[in-house]
Amino acid sequence: MVRFILFATLIAVSVLVAYVFSQNPDWNAAFEVFGYRLTLHLGFLFFGLVILLWLFGWLYFGVRRTLAMPSEMAKNARISRQNRGYKALTHGLVALAAGDPDEADKQARRANKLLEETPATLLLTAQAAQLNGDEESAAKYFDEMTKNDDTAFLGLRGKIMQALARGDRKEVQQLLEQARKIKPNAPWILETEYEMGMQTGELEGAQRAVKRLASRRLLPSSVARNRLALTEADLAFQAAEKGAWRQAVDHAQRAISDEPTLIPARSLAARAHLELGNLRKAKEQAVEAWRLRPTAGAATTYLRACKPRDIAAKRTAVAELIQANPNALFSQYLRAEAAIESGDIAIAQDAVGDLPETSAAVGVNALKLRMEALKSGGEDRSPSPLDGHSLPIEPQVCSNCGAEHTRWRAVCTDCGSSGSIGLPTRAAQAPKMLPPA
Ligand SMILES: [Zn+2]
Repeated sequence: MVRFILFATLIAVSVLVAYVFSQNPDWNAAFEVFGYRLTLHLGFLFFGLVILLWLFGWLYFGVRRTLAMPSEMAKNARISRQNRGYKALTHGLVALAAGDPDEADKQARRANKLLEETPATLLLTAQAAQLNGDEESAAKYFDEMTKNDDTAFLGLRGKIMQALARGDRKEVQQLLEQARKIKPNAPWILETEYEMGMQTGELEGAQRAVKRLASRRLLPSSVARNRLALTEADLAFQAAEKGAWRQAVDHAQRAISDEPTLIPARSLAARAHLELGNLRKAKEQAVEAWRLRPTAGAATTYLRACKPRDIAAKRTAVAELIQANPNALFSQYLRAEAAIESGDIAIAQDAVGDLPETSAAVGVNALKLRMEALKSGGEDRSPSPLDGHSLPIEPQVCSNCGAEHTRWRAVCTDCGSSGSIGLPTRAAQAPKMLPPA
């Protein structure tokens, strides 16, 4: 628009000037050049000058452009190189995501050549190497990255992941220390801190990490509660191991309030209350544990808290306990055992008959032998104590790696998986079968 107005003005001025000159034909200029005398009309001279100026302007721009050409071309080449580099980077990342190691490697090399060492190309190269199973090369690139302030954090992350994969906890801790100085609240750092705390038994550290993750909304609150419950329950078992029952109760209660269905925490709370002489609370927690899943531990605590004086009292106590979960196999088992011990052949036969034939578990077979003995001899030859039972104790086995532990743990010390110990085995989950002995 501005250009148009300028152009129109120029035309108008030219026409006006031309008109003025045409009205004054006697406006002449006289020169003497090399001895010749020239007479020119002023209008002619004026337009000649204008054309000369115009031509000179074009010449000036043309020369300037030609002189600027080499640097312009170099700039264009650089931009094109960069574009190709970013394209290679993009293709490389796509190949990484698609799990195509060869393509990722190829594009990483191309990106490296075109872009030189940017954080992104280094990372792509390292990850492509990792995808190719070349951990050594990947480690070299991660090392390279740790030397530069811009990429140090990413490099440390790569090295930590490698150390984690190797199971080198000491190195993980050292590297974490460095990474924490750069970004103390990065989600993956907190996540790794949690994992490491759980695996090394530094549960307070694990709890701090979970709380920080939760307060930054990086963890769903249900997951955070579950993790805190697992750590509290583990702390409760640690305290119990040392005989610190008061502490054990506190930790177990916190675990239960975070995760009411955490059976090991219920069982331990019952046991700790029993040890502290809180018999009523011990029974309450044992019944709750039984309701969730009957276990030998809950039955033991319950019967010990009931302190039955004779077999009749024991049968009453058992009847109260199994009411919480009447159809469970262990409930039927306890009922049959109490009937056998009290010599009640009719009830005992009935209860034993309810136990699944298919189960070859030692507990059921032994109970059947006691039943036979009762029928032939009129009395139970191997009665359990008044506050005891013959339920098989569940082994604390990791459902992930199969390692057996002496007590319940939040994390398997063998394979590092969390929440995998003390889960009902598949056999115990099914209502009609006993867990394997
Ligand atoms: Zn395990």
